Amino acid sequence: MKLLVTGCAGFIGANFTNYILDRYPKDSIVGVDCLTYAANSEALESLCKNERFCFYKADICDSAAMDEIFGSERPEVVVNFAAESHVDRSIIDASVFVRTNVFGTQVLLDTARRYGVQRFHQVSTDEVYGDMPLDSEIKFTEDSPLRPSSPYSASKAAADLLVFSYQRTHGLPVSISRSTNNYGKYQHVEKLIPMTVDSLLSGKPVPVHGDGKNMRDWLFVEDNCKAIDLIIREGKCEIYNVGANNLWRNIDLVRRIAELIGDPNSQITFVTDRKGNDRKYAVSIAKLSALGWKPKADFYIELKETLDWYKSKFV
Ligand code: NAD
Repeated sequence: MKLLVTGCAGFIGANFTNYILDRYPKDSIVGVDCLTYAANSEALESLCKNERFCFYKADICDSAAMDEIFGSERPEVVVNFAAESHVDRSIIDASVFVRTNVFGTQVLLDTARRYGVQRFHQVSTDEVYGDMPLDSEIKFTEDSPLRPSSPYSASKAAADLLVFSYQRTHGLPVSISRSTNNYGKYQHVEKLIPMTVDSLLSGKPVPVHGDGKNMRDWLFVEDNCKAIDLIIREGKCEIYNVGANNLWRNIDLVRRIAELIGDPNSQITFVTDRKGNDRKYAVSIAKLSALGWKPKADFYIELKETLDWYKSKFV
């Protein structure tokens, strides 16, 4: 299978590209990334050593560039990871989020349609459902209404709607995965886990938003890669939630990281809460489980390995 992976130099895109190249010796990957601040050069250098990987530095909003790449490479499957992904940045300036996450997705959909790809997979987020109270037992299903809270999640929800409109209107075979928070190597230092490690190692207080009680479901990035792979190969042209049932309050996770780093007395500063901050996310993974997927990672083992990886990079 020949896959075109956008955002291949970012956190999840790089892990996914690695996963496919390792697992399927006959598959090849065309990587596309315009290398924003979030791209990881080490991950990209390592991918470029594989002869079944080729890379194009290109913007998914550039229709002519996408046309040229699809025309010469003729991918069978497209997996769109390329996005602006940091909620805080979307609160400061939403324009680039709308440009990349919505307009960029539309450019890719049109290009995929012109070249008759067999599957267009959109990598989305559980944040499109909005949040719920901390004491709620509800889990969002794939049919739950879209109630995004931030410009980031609104741009992802808009893209999801566009993706399915291309199925209904043009018959393009599409699927969407909506995952919870991922952890693992190659994530940008602005995100919670690497930022906490970085603060601890440099002796700075660790900033925690609001009262720190907000809850997130932490999914090991490789489990997400396996889920996306399964959806592409065996899933229907539908939406699948991906989660780990591994809910942590931010404050507890930060304390746990401090313990694992060996700095249990570290300083934590509660900083002004993010505007419109979501309290809790939780998704039902029953639909994906019926396909035979379950999160395999042991959180304590993988978190420790992830922290060791960041420690080796930050010192
Ligand atoms: P990331 O910010 O680490 O990486 C995004 C990559 O996309 C970067 O390499 C960047 O250079 C590239 N990119 C950005 N704009 C581009 C453009 N216009 N053209 C080409 N390339 C562009 O993001 P991530 O954390 O790896 O997330 C990947 C996808 O998964 C995103 O769509 C995000 O919404 C979704 N997601 C992420 C998480 C998470 O926990 N990280 C959770 C759920 C969903």
